[in-house]
Amino acid sequence: MDCQMPELDGFAASRQLADLKKAEQLPNIPIIALTANALKGDRERCLQAGMVDYANKPIRKEHLARILHKWLPAKFIPEAHAEGSLEGVVVMLVEDNRINMEFAIEMLERFGCRVITARNGLEGIAEARKEQPYDIILMDVQMPEMDGLTATRHIRVLQQGGITPVVPVIAITANAMKGDREICLEAGMDDYVTKPLQGEQLKSILLKWIPPEKLAALNARRTHQKQSGALLVNADIVEEARAVIGQEYGNILRLFVKNTDYLLATIERSIRQARDPEVLVMYAHSLGSSSGYMGATRLCELARALEKAAHAASLTHGDITKLWPLYEELQFIWQGTCYQLHHQPTTKNQSAAA
Ligand code: MN
Repeated sequence: MDCQMPELDGFAASRQLADLKKAEQLPNIPIIALTANALKGDRERCLQAGMVDYANKPIRKEHLARILHKWLPAKFIPEAHAEGSLEGVVVMLVEDNRINMEFAIEMLERFGCRVITARNGLEGIAEARKEQPYDIILMDVQMPEMDGLTATRHIRVLQQGGITPVVPVIAITANAMKGDREICLEAGMDDYVTKPLQGEQLKSILLKWIPPEKLAALNARRTHQKQSGALLVNADIVEEARAVIGQEYGNILRLFVKNTDYLLATIERSIRQARDPEVLVMYAHSLGSSSGYMGATRLCELARALEKAAHAASLTHGDITKLWPLYEELQFIWQGTCYQLHHQPTTKNQSAAA
């Protein structure tokens, strides 16, 4: 609900709706205020008018998502993708107790997370402000120097000001006393876990709060990295090819992809049928030269190796089915190469500026 509107402003409208809710003439649906400026006292005005929370305009996507998560009944929120992998997720852990910290780090690292640590609220804020990526904050509540509730309030202000990335903050509470949950949520935390931390509980809360797109992106990057243990594409050659071919580069790349798929299919058939090593030599040679031009360095090396091996087999009447692992590697490398060729920055200068 926008606060400033003609005819009837958001505060008045919200009060009327609150009355209807009290009279049970309306279902008890949370009203979130949209305020133009976070004036001191705005929050109180909103709460008094019967709104449960507020968001500053211009509202950012992440903040909107967070606030909807916070106020929508759990049934509307997709349940934690419990089977998901947390590998590559960066967790900021703010905890003063050394032993607790070690336990938490151990668990998180077992999930494949990377952990950034801070020993109290002040350090937590300092870490949050650093230019480093992190996906979620785990915040102890009781800490010296600055407690977790205060630190969270500060971090939320930084997030709303666009100074730090908008990430979920999960409280680590010592005792799940009734009311603890409310205190944490009131401070702007999204959810909480209780001490002593338990692996499954911790994992499911992380999976619940880290956006699925983020997990999917990490997953894709991981797969891609596995395929590209070594550099698959030589950027200098790609750049040169672009310069030489000019506007036709896109078409040539498409042609190259289609041709490589065809060559690989033919190579596969040829090895399976174990006939005609000369044909295999010819196709491997063709793949080697075209991938060389396109800057697909690793593919080129493998094609050359295949060509050589097939040539040797043809001279000695050797068994070319033994070349199958080489074909499999070619196929594997081709997936990553294809991806990299399509994601090469246009020129070095532009990529430096991006
Ligand atoms: Mn503590």
